[in-house]
Amino acid sequence: MLRFWVIAAAVAAVGVIIATHGGWEATPLWMVLLPVIAATGFAAWGAVNVRSNYFVRTHSKGKSTDKSVSLTFDDGPVTSFTPQILDILAQFNVKAAFFCIGHRVEQEPGIMKRITAEGHLVGNHSFSHSPMFDLQHSSAMRTDLAKANEAIKSTTGLQPKLFRPPYGVTNPMLARAIRKSKLIAVGWSIRSFDTVITDEDKLFERVTKKIEAGDIFLFHDTCAATVRILPALIKQLRRDGFAIRRLDELLNIPAYA
Ligand SMILES: [Zn+2]
Repeated sequence: MLRFWVIAAAVAAVGVIIATHGGWEATPLWMVLLPVIAATGFAAWGAVNVRSNYFVRTHSKGKSTDKSVSLTFDDGPVTSFTPQILDILAQFNVKAAFFCIGHRVEQEPGIMKRITAEGHLVGNHSFSHSPMFDLQHSSAMRTDLAKANEAIKSTTGLQPKLFRPPYGVTNPMLARAIRKSKLIAVGWSIRSFDTVITDEDKLFERVTKKIEAGDIFLFHDTCAATVRILPALIKQLRRDGFAIRRLDELLNIPAYA
C-alpha cells in the first residue's frame, strides 16, 4: 500500500509542477503521459503480484534465517482430493494451511472438521471466489469475506484471521476491505501452477527448482497432480534439512481471532 501512495504522490507532484509552470498548454504531451503510463504500469504490476506489497501488506515468505518452509492449499474443501491430501499429511505428520472457499465450506462441513481436528490451519479465501471479485466495491468484498469467515466458524468453531486473495490479485478496494475486516493478507513465494501443470514430473520439477528458507508453497487441494507429488516433495524437503512448519508458526502471526 505504501508503494501505491508513493507513486500516487509522485504523479500528483508532476501535476503540481505542470500547473505552476505555465499550465497544460506550455507542457509537452510526453511530460504528462509518461508519469501516468508509469503509474498505470506499476499499479497493474502491483495488482497481479501478491508479493509486491503494492496495495496490501502481504506476508509471502518467512524468515530466511530459519530453515523452515510451509505448505498451503487453496480452493477446497473438495471431496475428490482434500481427504487424500489430509491422509498424506497425517502419514508424514505435517501440518499445513488450507485457504478455503466459503461456499465449498458449507458443502463439506465434515472435511472442514477433519482439517482442524488434525491440526491444520484454516484461512479465508473469500466466499464466492468469483472471477469478478476484484471488480467489486470494498463494502461488497467485506460482506463476502465476513460470509466466508461465518461459514468457517460455524463448521469449525474457529474464526480465521488469515486471508489469501482469490487469484492473488489485490487493489485499493481489497486493501480497504482487508483492513476493515481486520484480516491479515497472506501470499506465497513458490507458486506451483498446479491448476495448469497436470504432468506430475513437470510440477515436481517446478516446485523443487529453487527452495529457500522461509518459502511458502502455493498448491490447490483440487488438483490430482498435487496429490501425486506431495509424498515425494515432503521427503525431499526433509532430506534437504527443511522443517515443514504450519504457516502461522512460520510467519509468527495469529491464525484465528
Ligand atoms: Zn483460489
